[in-house]
Parts: sequence; structure tokens; C-alpha cells
Amino acid sequence: MNLTPLLEQYSRIKKKYQDIILFFRLGDFYETFYDDAVLVSKILGIALTQRQQGVPLAGVPYHSVQPYIAKLVRAGYKVAICEQLEEPKPGKLVKRDVVEVITSGTLLDDSLLESNKNNYLASIAYDNNKYGLALVDLSTGDFKITELSEDELQDELKKVNPAEIIAPATLKIKGLELIKFTQIEPYEFSYEFALNELTEHFKVASLDGFGCKDLKLGIGAGGAALAYIKATKKKGLEYINRVTPYFLSNHLIIDEPTRRNLELTQKIGGSEGEGTLLWVLDHTCTPMGGRFIRNLINFPLIDAKEINSRLDKVEELVNSTTLLDGLRRLLSKITDLERLIAKVSGERANARELVMIGNALKILPELNSILPDKFYEGSCGKDYKFGNFDSTVSLIDRAIVDNPPPTIKDGGIIKAGFNKELDELRKLAFSGKQWISDFESNERRRTGIQSLKVGFNNVFGYYIEVTKPNLKLVPPTYIRKQTIVSGERFITQELKEYESKVLSAEERIKQLEYELFCDLRKEVAKKTTEIQYVAKKIAELDTFASFAWVAKRNGYTRPVVDDGDSIIIKNGRHPVVEQLLREGEFVPNPTILEKDSEIYIITGPNMAGKSTYLRQVGLIVVMAQIGSFVPATESRIGVCDRIFTRIGASDDLTRGVSTFLAEMNETANILNNASKRSLVLLDEIGRGTSTFDGMSIAWATIEYLSNRIGCKTLFATHYHELTELATISSKIKNYQIAVKRYEDKIIFLRQLRPGGCDESYGIDVAKLAGLPQVVIKRAKEILHTLELNERKASKIRAKSKQVDLFELKEPPVLKELDKIELDKITPIDALLLIKKLKSLRE
Ligand code: ADP
Ligand code: MG
Repeated sequence: MNLTPLLEQYSRIKKKYQDIILFFRLGDFYETFYDDAVLVSKILGIALTQRQQGVPLAGVPYHSVQPYIAKLVRAGYKVAICEQLEEPKPGKLVKRDVVEVITSGTLLDDSLLESNKNNYLASIAYDNNKYGLALVDLSTGDFKITELSEDELQDELKKVNPAEIIAPATLKIKGLELIKFTQIEPYEFSYEFALNELTEHFKVASLDGFGCKDLKLGIGAGGAALAYIKATKKKGLEYINRVTPYFLSNHLIIDEPTRRNLELTQKIGGSEGEGTLLWVLDHTCTPMGGRFIRNLINFPLIDAKEINSRLDKVEELVNSTTLLDGLRRLLSKITDLERLIAKVSGERANARELVMIGNALKILPELNSILPDKFYEGSCGKDYKFGNFDSTVSLIDRAIVDNPPPTIKDGGIIKAGFNKELDELRKLAFSGKQWISDFESNERRRTGIQSLKVGFNNVFGYYIEVTKPNLKLVPPTYIRKQTIVSGERFITQELKEYESKVLSAEERIKQLEYELFCDLRKEVAKKTTEIQYVAKKIAELDTFASFAWVAKRNGYTRPVVDDGDSIIIKNGRHPVVEQLLREGEFVPNPTILEKDSEIYIITGPNMAGKSTYLRQVGLIVVMAQIGSFVPATESRIGVCDRIFTRIGASDDLTRGVSTFLAEMNETANILNNASKRSLVLLDEIGRGTSTFDGMSIAWATIEYLSNRIGCKTLFATHYHELTELATISSKIKNYQIAVKRYEDKIIFLRQLRPGGCDESYGIDVAKLAGLPQVVIKRAKEILHTLELNERKASKIRAKSKQVDLFELKEPPVLKELDKIELDKITPIDALLLIKKLKSLRE
């Protein structure tokens, strides 16, 4: 083949897709050329060949292209699919163009999507340190926008973990993963361009109806996202039919380090699954529920009314085993309606998927019949009652066979009786085959050739085959077509007429079935909005059912959630750690954070359970604020606006080199952002530096939290010296996680008790760890000496409110004594000085 006109066509198209790998359809292959070919052959491990003019070329077969695309997209590349747009004709260049661009943020292929996770494309607009963020999941039609600061944006992107991020080429944000970035012309993020893009797509005059008209940057991001999606997908985007604004200030804010420390959806090391809160709570039965529960954990609420409305539903389910079991049984029959209807609307669904939709919709009346009325009062103001989809269900039932094939162009989809024309064509095709076999036996009889056979090939269709010995019996009406080794092949006028009827009937059947299927799909697509609504409700129900199921199984109770400012937990447990221990092994502990006792200093040796306790309180608050029951026998949670957790540098093994600096950055962030309504969990803060530095930073931090912010704080430390703090404020309480010495060993009791821990037990823990006896013995000697010195120093204690820890090392009395110049002092001054010294002593 002469490549020149073809390569010209290729270059013309490739010009529009510079940074994208172009899969160029050539018959049964997608070919790549030039640099694309070199790259693709390397990544996919396929042969690089050379065609005329030394053009490098690498191709993959058209029928098994999916895994190749998957591999490229996972590696961060984009693939443009260039198809042949007409039937090839000899001697003429086939028309070709790109029909779709596949990028990681716009994936639609099931095999590349995770069922219980949204696949978001994120889009970022910015202006003057303010950012607009849009998130679109093309597989579900989910589309939301918000506005935020740079820090919030970073947190949000880490939380949502989008598959791809588009942003103006001018945007510079540190720390974002470059592999996910696609740069777009800045004007596409402008308000005017974006607004126009969105209003045109939604066919509305303004965005007021979506409640986002004031989010100018959000709209900028949203419009750019939509334009990008349109450019990649070209068609079938009607199911993206609304954009929803969301506001961080309506949610409990959990910044990135806190999310990581609390291990909400990921372990500290980054892995998902076992060991996370999501892992404990997610027993949903549908993919929609799986995605929704993850979203709930990412966005806990702060409105006590909304939270209680969720809790009401969970409680209802907890209280009725019949209802809960019945609900979960029905839910488990419902497939991914949300992604299925997106496929239907986007004209990507096959017949099997339509049947799946029909089967899922069939469950709705059953759901309606078991859900008590109370359930229909939704927190979002709309009710749960599922609409009537009888006509859609019966249409699908009547139209599609029970086990349709996965392809939609090869027939075998439509049931008999659904369409008259189809039934007649089928009769004809069938009787045509019958006719051929009748024709064969007739001809045998007529010619007396017993071995006469009617066959079929692609070159000249039906033929009559006669073996050599019988050729003399062939009648003159037979027209010779081909000579083969064993005989000759003939056709007749009559055979050809029938052939054209049969073949055209078969072709026509496939065509008609395809058309009927497409019509049917369009008909179902008319219900997109309603079915999307059902999918959302199913997701909610499924999530509440999961909360209820987990609550029953793990013995959780309903928290009292209100706008008060106490956190009171009786017999609280760590939801994840208790699952990982054997039953009854976890020791429950109380928490009483009321107005007047806002700060706990929690001491105890390493391994006592301090970190576990801190996280347990944080997790219980998160659970309450997402509407879940909690692992405690009783609890009252005054809604928090933020949760902060920080782990001292040397305790956090996952961080990089400058851990102490990072720890201090994060502490600064807390001090600057916490409010009275925040819950602050500080774990061994100040540990990443020398003891005195660390202790003093810890001390000053606690003072600031207590005096200036007044937030509820749990501060875990193995610096037992910090228990002194309780003496400066009644708001600061000392607790310890108790251990017991028993015959030279320590036993971890895991119990939180009032009072500070008087020693670090570091040597005991070291002993547990198996340090050699000599080392332990020597350490004890050294400790003894150090403690003696310490005791001498602390004999003199200052009781002023703002005590400086380091003045303890050099008491004020000594300072005053130093100042005395003996040869100059008068007796009266000496007396006055003695009085002053006495007062300092007190
Ligand atoms: P610390 O922070 O005081 O060094 P951790 O919180 O890391 O101690 O706890 C150490 C281990 O003790 C945990 O891994 C857990 O298995 C166990 N543990 C902690 N708290 C409890 C508890 N309340 N009941 C039972 N085991 C616990
Ligand atoms: Mg710890």
C-alpha cells in the first residue's frame, strides 16, 4: 500500500492531538506511527516495525484493544481513537477522524473503573489566591463545584484523589502530582467562557437554579471541565444534567494529616482496606452505596439536625431486624443503576445492561412495600418513595431476550412478538434455510445425483457441488462457477434468487434488531433523571443499612448529637483496633470533655495505649457526625467544626527527612485555625527535638490552646513533667493510661485513670523489648542519679500562673541572692530582702 496519502491524513489528524497517542484505525488494527510508535512499543512491549519511507510503526489488533488502552492510560498517557468513518472502497482513501479521547479522568470502560469508588476528573480555576474546584465523575454523571483557599484545595485534592486534574497552564501549586496534570488554555477557565459552556449544556438561561451563581471560580472550573469532557467524548453527555455546589464550611473539616492519622479511608502507609474506618463501616450491598459511604466519611456533617435525621433512620433499622434484613436482601439484588443509566444515556449500554436495569427497577415496588412511612421523610426535603417504572420494566421485558449477547450489532437481542417486521424477516430467513434444504433434495431427485450438495462460501454465496463421476448428469440450466479437485461447483437462477432473499433477510434482521435496540435504549434514557434519583436514594438507604448492620454486629449505640460543647463518651472503644483484637480484649475507656475541663494531658509509657485512645475519641466524633452509631455504651457529642490530629515527628515513620519542621508547621496550622468548637488531638508533639526544647514547645502550645482558643484538646505525652501544667489551670486535667508493676515487670492495663503518670517506664519497655540485662541495669543506675538531681531542682517551685518551666532550673530566690552586693547592703535593706525572699519561696 502506498503510505503517502495515508500518512498525510494521519499527520493532519495527529496535528490536533499533539500530546496524545493516536490510535489510527487501519482495517483490523489500530496503528501508531513515528514517536507514538516508539513510545507505545516500549510501554506495551509490542514490536516496532518500519514501513515505507522508514516510518516507525506499531499496532495492536482492533478486537482486543482494551487492555492496551488500559495499560497506557494507567501509565498516565492519553489515547485518541481514530476510526474509519466509512466502508473501505478499493483505490480510495477512507475517511477517518477521532471519535473519542481516553484519559484517566474520563474513563468509561468498566474494566478500568473501581465499582465502589468515584473516578473524578478535577478542574482548577484560580484568581488571586482563591481557587475554584470542579469534580466530575463521567461514569456516574456526578458533577460538583466549590471554592477554596490553596491549603483547602490541597487537602481536597488529596481527599478526593482525582484520576486526572486539568488546570490552566499558568497554575503553579506545589506538591501536586504532575503525572495527573493536563494543561488547558487559561481562557477556558474564565467565568464568561465557562458560564456559556455550562448554560448551553444544561440548556438553561442561568445557573441560579443550581444554587451556584455566586461561585464564579467554581463555575470557571466547571465550564472548563465540561469543555474538556466534550472534547474527549464528543457525544452522549446528556446524563450530566446538573451541577451541585458544595461548601466546605457545611462539613466537619478534617485536614490531610488528620485524615491520614485517623486512617479514615487509607492506612497511614497509604494502603486501603483492612485497618481503616471505611473498612469497618462499609458493609454496603450495592456499588452506589459503596461510593456513597466513602463520600460520607469524606464529608461528615456539622448540622445536628441533619445528623439526627440520619441517625433516626439508622436507629429504625437497628430496631427492626426484619426490616434491616429485608432491606439488605433487596438491596443486594440491585446492580449499579447509577453507572448503568449513565451508559444508557451515553448510548454505551448493551442489551445485557438494559436487562440489568429492568431487573433492578423491578425491586423498587418491593422496597416501597417494606419501608415504613417514616422512612420517606428524607433529610434532604425529598422523600424516598420510589416512583413507578412499570412501563419501562415491561418494555424491557417484552423487548429483550432473557440472556442477550454482549454485542448489539449481531442480532439475537429482540424477543419474538415484539416487532412484526422482525418476526416476518425471521420467518423468511428461517424458511429460506428450509428452502435450501428442500432445494437440495429436489435437485438430487431431479438429476439423479445422490451426492449433490448445496454449500456456501464467501466468494460467490450458495452453490451446487457435483463430483466428477456425476458431471455428465448435470442439467444445462446449471451455470458453472468453479472447478475443484473432486468436481465442479454450479449455480442456478433459482438458487441465486433465493439466496439474495435469505442473505438480505439475515442482514436486515441484524440491522433491524440494532435499530430496535437503539430505540429502546433511547426510550429508557428518557428516564435518566428519575433513575439517577433512585440510584442516589438507594445509595443512601444502603449506607444507612450498612451503619445499622455494623452497629448491631459490633455493639454500637446511638450518640446524642447536639450543639452543646461537651464530648462525653462512656466506655468508648477504638472501632478499628477492637476489630483487630480478639473479642473482649479491647479495654473501653471514658471521655469527659466538658466546658470546664477542656484539656487532657495523658501520660503513660510507650505502648500504654495513648495514641489509640486519642484516635478513638477522634473516630467516635467522626462516626457520630456522619450519622453512624458509635462504639461506646453511651455518648453525647457536641458537634465539632474541625478535628486536628498531629503526631510527633519521631512517632510518624511515614514522613520524610525534615520531620520536626513538618511537625511544627502542622502545629502552627492548628494554633492558627482551631476554634472553640474544634477537637484537637496532639500525640507526642515536640518529640522530634531535644527534651527541653520539646517540652517547652509542648507546654507553650497547651497554654495557648487553653487560654486563647479554648478548644477541646487531648494531649498525649510521655513527658510526665508536663503533668505540672494541671497546676496552672483548672481546665487542664491529668490522666494516665495505667500500667502496673508486677514482680519487676510491667503490665499494661489499658485503663485511663485520673492523675499523671509519675515515671516514664521507658526502661521497663526497653526490657520488654529484650535489651540485654547489663544495659537495663546500668540504665537504672543512671536514671537514679538523674532523678536525684531533678528532685533537688524541683524542691523549689514557683506557683505563679504563667510559670516558666526553665525558671525551675534556677529558682528566683537564687537570682535575688546573686544580686546582693554584701559590702553595700544596709541592715534595713537586708531585712526587706529577707522579706522578699520569703515571699518568693511561697
Ligand atoms: P502508645 O501511644 O501509648 O505508645 P498505642 O496507642 O500505640 O500506645 O498502643 C499500643 C498497642 O496497645 C496498640 O497497638 C493496641 O494493640 C494496644 N491497645 C491500645 N489501647 C488498647 C485498649 N484500650 N485495649 C486493648 N488494647 C489496646
Ligand atoms: Mg503513641
